[in-house]
Amino acid sequence: MVRITVEASSNYDVLIAEGLLGETGSLAAEVVPPCKVLVASDDIVTALYSDTVVHSLQDAGFEVEQFTFPHGEKSKNLQTLNSLLEYAAKKQLTRQSLFVALGGGITGDLTGFAAAVYQRGAGYIQIPTTFLAAIDSSVGGKTAVNLDAGKNLAGAFFQPRLVICDLATFETLPSEVFSDGAAEAVKYGMISDYELFLKLEAGITISNLQDIVARCVDIKRQIVARDEYDRGERQLLNYGHTFGHGIEKCSGYTISHGHAVAIGMVMAARAAERLGIAEEECSDRLAAALHKYGLPVYSPFETNELTSAILTDKKRAGDTLTVVLPERPGRCILHKLPVDDIERLVSLSLE
Ligand code: MG
Repeated sequence: MVRITVEASSNYDVLIAEGLLGETGSLAAEVVPPCKVLVASDDIVTALYSDTVVHSLQDAGFEVEQFTFPHGEKSKNLQTLNSLLEYAAKKQLTRQSLFVALGGGITGDLTGFAAAVYQRGAGYIQIPTTFLAAIDSSVGGKTAVNLDAGKNLAGAFFQPRLVICDLATFETLPSEVFSDGAAEAVKYGMISDYELFLKLEAGITISNLQDIVARCVDIKRQIVARDEYDRGERQLLNYGHTFGHGIEKCSGYTISHGHAVAIGMVMAARAAERLGIAEEECSDRLAAALHKYGLPVYSPFETNELTSAILTDKKRAGDTLTVVLPERPGRCILHKLPVDDIERLVSLSLE
């Protein structure tokens, strides 16, 4: 088992191995004394994994309640958050109780936010069951729900007590969902690890991911330790996300997060080349690497639509917006520009 300790406002371990779901109870008991637990998951994950997790928690002495909601980005909103919080209150959870987010990024962000605000903060554990959640959303304490105006516009920084990543859960992922994770893994390679980029460029498969997951989590650990609250360096993790969130929003969330980030990364690379920031070939190499995982690299939306979607993104700060642009695979920079220049950047990225 790989154990990576994240040092943030509170410290916690990320545990990575095959077959950890059945040990959830004993692993949780190492960080939280047995108490009332609310396991939150969507309908798909509930059917696959909640029995294993619930029995393991019960065997370790936890009293378990369950909350299930419909799968998909449309559930990541204030209505589901409200239902989850009311359910926790009805089941008499206290501040000493524990929320367990069992599932992908939507479940993790939603449940983490519920834990952050329930009675001003109860503990929670992340159990990511997708490649994407394992390497990104389950680590680092960003929790949120979407508003009508855009992605993740209501949320909190709130670190989990523990992250349990059972690699065996990836085996049930549909190939597009695996690709979503591959897009974020390529992102880590692009922003800070050329060797990782080379591995992903050569091609990885779902069956042997422990090293890749551990490497991505370790990169995130380092960045979060230096900039937990997203004031500087952590914004590098948004590479591809400014354009990506715009694409998700324009599509009415029918294009998934990883797929939108893939398009967004290539757009940012093309714009960076036009601006003389990125070396030639950068966007072609990136696009070829993403193509290996069946990911799209062209925006189906035009400049006008995308620009207005991007301008409601939360990374906007007053009259400026920071975008992440690559110089080459393995190195990206933060590029601050006036919001009035966004339209031109979007149009350069689509040329
Ligand atoms: Mg992401």
